[in-house]
Amino acid sequence: MKTKLSALVLTVALSIAPCLAQESASNAVLNISDMDKTVDPCTDFYAYSCGGWIKNNPIPGDQARWSISEKLEDDNRAQLRAILDEAAKTDPPRNAIAQKIGDYYASCVDVDAIEKLGSKPLLPELARIAALKSKKEIAGYISTAQFPPSLDVGGMLFAFRSNQDYKDSTQVIAEIDQAGLGLPDRDYYLNGDLKSEELRKAYVVHVAKMFEMIGDLPKDAAAEADTIMRVESALAKGQMTLVKRRDPPNLYHKMTVEDLEKLAPAFDWNTYFVKTGAGHIASLNVVSPQYLRTINDEIATESLGVWKTYLRWHATNAAANELSSAFVQETFNFYGKMLRGQQELPPRWKRCTNDVDYDLGEALGQAYVEKYFSPEAKQAALKMVREIEGTMESEIRALPWMGPETKEQALTKLHAVVNKIGYPDKWRDYSSLEIVRGDEIGNAKRASWFEFHRWLAKIGKPVDRTEWDMTPPTVNADYDPQRNDINFPAGILQPPLFDQHSDAAANFGNTGATMGHELTHAFDDEGSQFDANGNLRDWWTDEDRKKFDSRTQCVVDQYSGYTILDDVKINGKLTNGEDIADLGGLLLAYLAWKKDTAGQKLDPVDGLAPEQRFFVAYGQSWCTSERDEDKRMRATVDPHSPEKYRTNGVVSNMSEFREAFHCKPGQPMVRENSCRIW
Ligand SMILES: [Zn+2]
Repeated sequence: MKTKLSALVLTVALSIAPCLAQESASNAVLNISDMDKTVDPCTDFYAYSCGGWIKNNPIPGDQARWSISEKLEDDNRAQLRAILDEAAKTDPPRNAIAQKIGDYYASCVDVDAIEKLGSKPLLPELARIAALKSKKEIAGYISTAQFPPSLDVGGMLFAFRSNQDYKDSTQVIAEIDQAGLGLPDRDYYLNGDLKSEELRKAYVVHVAKMFEMIGDLPKDAAAEADTIMRVESALAKGQMTLVKRRDPPNLYHKMTVEDLEKLAPAFDWNTYFVKTGAGHIASLNVVSPQYLRTINDEIATESLGVWKTYLRWHATNAAANELSSAFVQETFNFYGKMLRGQQELPPRWKRCTNDVDYDLGEALGQAYVEKYFSPEAKQAALKMVREIEGTMESEIRALPWMGPETKEQALTKLHAVVNKIGYPDKWRDYSSLEIVRGDEIGNAKRASWFEFHRWLAKIGKPVDRTEWDMTPPTVNADYDPQRNDINFPAGILQPPLFDQHSDAAANFGNTGATMGHELTHAFDDEGSQFDANGNLRDWWTDEDRKKFDSRTQCVVDQYSGYTILDDVKINGKLTNGEDIADLGGLLLAYLAWKKDTAGQKLDPVDGLAPEQRFFVAYGQSWCTSERDEDKRMRATVDPHSPEKYRTNGVVSNMSEFREAFHCKPGQPMVRENSCRIW
């Protein structure tokens, strides 16, 4: 199974707005018993909305955090398991899709067969590394390793994939990015605080254990683990920070392969491109030239023996979750327990279900949407998102700080946003991916290579804007600035986040705010640098950009003041885009809800006025409990603020909230210098 450190996610929540009378509406999206009415909403609105839920929903042992979204993810996973159990039955004969997902799953849960193999599947790989005769051969090995060169974090040395050209949104080009670390981010190697030091020590112990498990003597294993820390720390030093990566121009350095060869001559690029199957590449984007220089220096400085150690560690780490239980458990002990605070390994079926979703997501997703996503739900979600877009149009037109020229451009961009709801119009074709029952690691390898080649196959071709990056059962949503589209998989359009039979206040407060959030991303500090077609192009007047920047700085200052735990504060520059989106999203949802229900007589329900219901539904979209370890990790790598501040930070900026709960100046949920952008 894969170590999915990047699956940190969590965007917002949403809902729909049918014109049911409040009294007869179901309360799937808003639950009074999840609240804590002993708390004053003007003091801590998050505790008021979620206190009951947090008290009654302790974090399960296999989770690092537990929230209404995570619980929904768990519920979705149980539905997927039922689909997979059915697909795994070989009698009666199955269709091609059921064969693939069913046999993949059956092989993954067959622990006896996996246990019998032990570390055996790794041995040929280790032998190949041992046989390398020169540093020049590193490129040839990486390009044909059992698991492909990574598409993103982790992997060996760097990531290789394709991407839409930042400055020509019609074309896909090759891209090389920083990667190749075993810890989640460069900062883990470089931060001087005690916790980071503790984690680095634990990482070295973990790496040493893994070397022992592949047969090295304890003394050698310890020295090798120190080597890994030294090499990865040097690589980390050359990597760009997450904050710097949030400014898109920092990520764009288009060059020819000849330029790349000059930049990092110690690596055999020609062999690499030929052997990965990328073939001849005219030009590519090198996300971080500085990092390529670092790789070059390190290859030149360190010996072949050191590089063999590096490759052995990463080959072992990449395969660990497909090997016997000793490897799986040791990997969990570090990545799950130590880094995120999970107490126990999630059951095998959960991990295997995740893997099918990861490797065959649009095959499994077809069966999922057939069963759990109705055309009515899709229409209801689409109607809601259009209402929110309509609201944004009026808001842009009325915006007091923006001049007419920029407004014109902003509206052009808004009108070009594509709404992708539920699932793709055209499903991915997995027919060339061979899934063999009983061959767990083989299936995992072939699926990884299938995905890798799918990305490479796009190089030099026009952009396919119908593609999805998330699978249908995913509980998340996103906005893609390069495609200028918003994506809501079927998995997030489910109760208790969205229910077309719930009342409008609840649906707009929850999922409506998520829709507003994704739409606002088109105009956050990052998204606003892309135009209607998804090109990185400045469409702002200088004066308006200055005003925008000072407004976004208000949000940076606000969130930078919040403490996550102990001495850990929110990095307001890292979370700025998400914080802007939260702020804009809730306001848009509120105004859209008002318009949607204009002329209706809305009565209080359970003692909550309609406006109060709207805000409580928003608060409840964030109810979360989280282990301290996970909080620390997210503080470093997650661009989203903790849920408490995604709630309180937003409502304390809104006069609409103050009025709904009759809050007074001076109370904690009333910010003196409110931020407002969109
Ligand atoms: Zn977001």
